[in-house]
Amino acid sequence: MPNSTDVIIVGSGASGAACARELAASDRSVLVVDPGNRAGEAWRASAGLLAPQIDPREDNPLFELGIAGREYYRDKATEFKEETDVDIELFDGGILRLARGETEADQLREAVAWQRQHGHRSEWLDPAEVRSEFKHVGANDGALWASHDGSVNPVRLIEALRQSAARRGATFVTDAVTGLLIENGRLTGVRGEKGTYRGGNVVLAAGAWTGRLTGLPRPVSVEPVRGQMIVRPWPAKLAPGIVFGSHGYVLERNGSAYCGATMEHAGFAADVTDRGETDLRSTSESLIPALAATRVTERMAGLRPATPDGLPIVGAEPTLPNLWYATGYGRNGILLAGITAVALVHLMAKEATFEGIEAMAPGRFWSW
Ligand SMILES: Cc1cc2nc3c(=O)[nH]c(=O)nc-3n(C[C@H](O)[C@H](O)[C@H](O)COP(=O)(O)OP(=O)(O)OC[C@H]3O[C@@H](n4cnc5c(N)ncnc54)[C@H](O)[C@@H]3O)c2cc1C
Repeated sequence: MPNSTDVIIVGSGASGAACARELAASDRSVLVVDPGNRAGEAWRASAGLLAPQIDPREDNPLFELGIAGREYYRDKATEFKEETDVDIELFDGGILRLARGETEADQLREAVAWQRQHGHRSEWLDPAEVRSEFKHVGANDGALWASHDGSVNPVRLIEALRQSAARRGATFVTDAVTGLLIENGRLTGVRGEKGTYRGGNVVLAAGAWTGRLTGLPRPVSVEPVRGQMIVRPWPAKLAPGIVFGSHGYVLERNGSAYCGATMEHAGFAADVTDRGETDLRSTSESLIPALAATRVTERMAGLRPATPDGLPIVGAEPTLPNLWYATGYGRNGILLAGITAVALVHLMAKEATFEGIEAMAPGRFWSW
């Protein structure tokens, strides 16, 4: 293991693995520290939707970045497969976002108009069109059809990113980081339960656990928001696809229906609950009624790293320029991990980067 490295990354979930891959690809030496198998890692329970276009809000500062995030995986899927032999199971066959009630229908119709005006493919389908094209979906008042949205398999994605990083020289260590290592007023690395790791830069990518590290120059406002999912067999005669509603979604993956997801403030308890299953059964059956005839085969839960304003925290710490944040991704950490890792490479090289990154600046939170 190298004694000193250009960049130490704390965590190797969606964010840490993507940062490791992109920083290693930019010829930096990278050391990744992660305890492995921590209960509640968000990526393991994640649906992996790439769904920037189904949000009815027009003032979403992450809209264009989300589109770029989705395109990152479309660009990289083949490269990952060739390089690592891991198929990230990119599905780019579209997401149907159902409307319930006139208010939601109006919002989604306006979202379609706004997106089209800004050069993105999106269509409004009235209830009769939804009935004729998507016979399996439940009651609705029309739908937004985002034909370019889709999904990846998050477990395979993290595997591909880690392997790609390792092939480009990144080193992975199994340890839990406890805090920053500050020597003579300078950030020189991190302390772990098993050892001390020194490096020129530190990237904080420990998901919902990031704020628990010691020595942080400001409180990292990341709280765990539990998400539960249930898995059931995908009804045999239905074509694969993704259906999204205001309370949840169903996606087909390898013959199963992944039905998500709850949003719960339950601290760091990453348990599944009967109440969660009941809610997810009901939501998924309202989206695809044929699911009522299937049984639940698996339940899972993960802790999303959520911030008070709903925006990730990405960029340099103003008071310690070699400390970087790549956390707080909430519900969109798979969608945004790849593209924000590319942005982090730009920022470290003091190069211009994507619009939208400035909304994630760490300095928006107070320091001690
Ligand atoms: C049910 C559910 C469904 C979701 N669906 C989607 C979706 O469809 N699309 C989407 O874009 N996003 C989705 N998300 C959100 C997405 O999974 C997260 O935003 C993303 O995983 C966050 O990445 P992360 O690396 O910040 O955190 P995580 O993925 O949680 O990874 C954090 C990593 O840090 C490590 N770690 C923890 N403590 C330490 C420590 N002390 N030292 C070192 N390492 C540490 C952990 O072991 C872990 O590997 C979903 C999440 C859930 C729970």
